[in-house]
Amino acid sequence: MGRMETITKQSPQGANNVCPAPPPLPGAATNFRQKRLFMMNNGSAITGNSCVSTATRDMWDSLFDGGYRADVTIKSNNGGIIYAHANVLGMASPVLRGMLIQAKGFGQKGSISIHGVPEDAVRVFIRFLYSSCYEKEEMKEFVLPLLVLSHSFVVPQLKRVCEQQLEHGLLTLENVVDVFQLSLLFDAPRLTLISHRMILRNFKVVSATEGWKAMKKSHPALEKELVKSMIDEENMKKEKIKRSNERKIYLELCEAMEALVHICRDGCRTIGPRDKHFKEEQKPCNYRACKGLELLIRHFAGCKLRVPGGCIHCKRMWQLLELHSRLCADSSSCKVPLCRNFKEKIRKQSKKDEIKWKILVKKILRIKRIGGGAPFSVYLNSISSRQRKSRLLRS
Ligand SMILES: [Zn+2]
Ligand SMILES: [Zn+2]
Ligand SMILES: [Zn+2]
Repeated sequence: MGRMETITKQSPQGANNVCPAPPPLPGAATNFRQKRLFMMNNGSAITGNSCVSTATRDMWDSLFDGGYRADVTIKSNNGGIIYAHANVLGMASPVLRGMLIQAKGFGQKGSISIHGVPEDAVRVFIRFLYSSCYEKEEMKEFVLPLLVLSHSFVVPQLKRVCEQQLEHGLLTLENVVDVFQLSLLFDAPRLTLISHRMILRNFKVVSATEGWKAMKKSHPALEKELVKSMIDEENMKKEKIKRSNERKIYLELCEAMEALVHICRDGCRTIGPRDKHFKEEQKPCNYRACKGLELLIRHFAGCKLRVPGGCIHCKRMWQLLELHSRLCADSSSCKVPLCRNFKEKIRKQSKKDEIKWKILVKKILRIKRIGGGAPFSVYLNSISSRQRKSRLLRS
């Protein structure tokens, strides 16, 4: 058949994004054909709203096993022959129907070949066409060939069973690369997503499997794509951690700001206010940052190196006090120490900067005047921007 070798170079779906939820499997059975799904699992008893009895199922099974009035021979790998009925095959698969018509045209009535997968897998496949049944062990062993056969011969019920079985246990670190490639080729987006996730989560182990090595050889572009999506995923994780750490820091600062105001305004049960006495009946403090601030404030009060750029604890305290001052809306009634002083300092700072700029502008204008022209600002306004550009380029 050679269908397994024709994997397309599609990119994995959602490779660069946060993993979305996989699309749902097709909805509940609504017609007879789909209802048969209910009785397939390990050939066990019928559940749900299936209308096929065990006796009927057994009859179809024995029709296949006994080959009563079989009119088709299916040649498979290693010369194996499977007997079947043209009516059943033709009804179950449009592709098989076409093959039987073609064989008739070539004068080989009732003889078709299915190669490329193990003979036993073909047998399980044909049995499924009769009774919609399979053995659990057979499914476990041949799930990938059955997926290939169900897709190739257009048997959607079996394809869905294979997808479900893979999703619920048969997908392994060993076969996940093959499943991923098949899912891309067979247009099975849910399976693509699930196998892609599994690959990314277990990249180290999966990239050492035979399946990975084979894919690297046959589809290097797909391998590169997977490596890239792995790197993207890693970067995304790092970015997420970074963002969450940053958020944590801002939150802590925010809490510290609240606690600082609380300590200075209300007085804290832990520390005690500057001008208030500790009250026995006071409730325990609700501010988480109080405890840490308490240690910092005690240090700040006693430290001999209480200058910016000195001791790191004091520096932190200065920063917190300045940050508070910049955030504080009403310094005049604020109880936080140095709040007004910092406001004053900031105002002075910006004034200083303003003066610096004024001095600089004055100096430039003076140089221009000495050169014999009009003051710089007047001069610039008198010419168009294009002229200005050419004059500037010439000078
Ligand atoms: Zn407190
Ligand atoms: Zn200090
Ligand atoms: Zn304040």
